[in-house]
Amino acid sequence: MTLALRRLEVPPEVVEIAQKLEDAGHEAWCVGGALRDAILEEAQLDFDLATSATPEQVQQLFRRTVPIGVRFGTVGVLDRARRMHEVTTFRRDVETDGRHAVVQYGVSLEDDLARRDFTINALAYHPLRGEWRDPFGGAADIALGVVRAVGEPAARFREDYLRILRALRFAARFGFRIEERTWAAARENAPGLEGLSAERVRDEWFKGLSSARSVSELVRFWRASRAAGIWLPELRDVVLEVPREERDAVLLTVLLTAAPVAVLRRLKASGAEIARAQAAVAAPAEPVGADEVAVRRWLSAAGGAADDAMMLHRWRTGTPAPWASTVATIRARGDALRREQLAVSGTDLLEAGVPAGPALGTVLGRLLDRVLVDPSLNTREQLLALAREQA
Ligand code: ATP
Ligand code: MG
Repeated sequence: MTLALRRLEVPPEVVEIAQKLEDAGHEAWCVGGALRDAILEEAQLDFDLATSATPEQVQQLFRRTVPIGVRFGTVGVLDRARRMHEVTTFRRDVETDGRHAVVQYGVSLEDDLARRDFTINALAYHPLRGEWRDPFGGAADIALGVVRAVGEPAARFREDYLRILRALRFAARFGFRIEERTWAAARENAPGLEGLSAERVRDEWFKGLSSARSVSELVRFWRASRAAGIWLPELRDVVLEVPREERDAVLLTVLLTAAPVAVLRRLKASGAEIARAQAAVAAPAEPVGADEVAVRRWLSAAGGAADDAMMLHRWRTGTPAPWASTVATIRARGDALRREQLAVSGTDLLEAGVPAGPALGTVLGRLLDRVLVDPSLNTREQLLALAREQA
């Protein structure tokens, strides 16, 4: 199948960088995901460039550069607005151990495209001449909706097992199928995923969750490929539709896995992310009733996890938490929900004659209980009177 690939509108800053490289006698091509997205008529942001110039030559040619990944041939070039564009030297990967690659320069554009993972990611476009290069039939695969490895799938996955997870992510993101041999090789080689770093796996899992057309579809891909068996055995088979703009990878992991805290620890998520999951799991899922007293008690118990709990409720049931409007009213009024919001402090109570020690905490707790039932009690005089009654 031949496809009439149209001329692309490449941002002028990218054209300018390409022009400068070509004027200096090098080749410069747009490559990577932006071309795929452009063919799919999705908004593209980063038109990465590939060039025959070495990283040193790129650094010499442009005034402002950032050595993003010079070891892999990538130099960031800053435009006038100080926005960064990635310029990567044509390279071939030699000596891969499934995780790291040693790269070799001085190769052609075709060689550079051949080391890319999937045909849909292996196109090139010349931003000055408007010319396409598509040696692996990527445009046809985009039109067909197919994720297909460049070259021999099993060999490509063994070079870098992360590509298995990337295949799942792209398939779920675009609603593509994974070509038969690519799929078989992905399943067969899934055990190799074990050797990946937790950070790379987490990155793929999180990106997959936020970009998938349907979260359930991504989950199915992870399970069916056996990737879940290696990294996320706790992944549940849940049917779930969450609009993309509401997605939150940590909270989705809470919903999708049977032991979210263990999963996030395994994936080396940040301390804040793990703590958030922990709080979401520990928080009571919903108030015992929709009345203000019940909702205040629930807000008090859920603490910082209340909003996460409401989001989880909405995702689980498909409807917003029925008590959400009561939460809004309570918050707008500023009702006390924590001990620190009481009109008296521990010091005030000591001065009023409450004995120091654990009793103090008990009294504060009781006062908060009373205030949760009736917020109008939250004045210094009333609380001190109540404390004296209790002491
Ligand atoms: P995204 O929209 O997620 O950024 P992308 O295709 O741009 O998708 P990147 O991870 O930004 O993906 O990588 C840019 C390009 O580099 C890819 O399109 C692909 O050609 C190549 N690439 C990235 N990772 C790999 C890999 N692990 N193996 C082979 N090629 C890769
Ligand atoms: Mg990209």
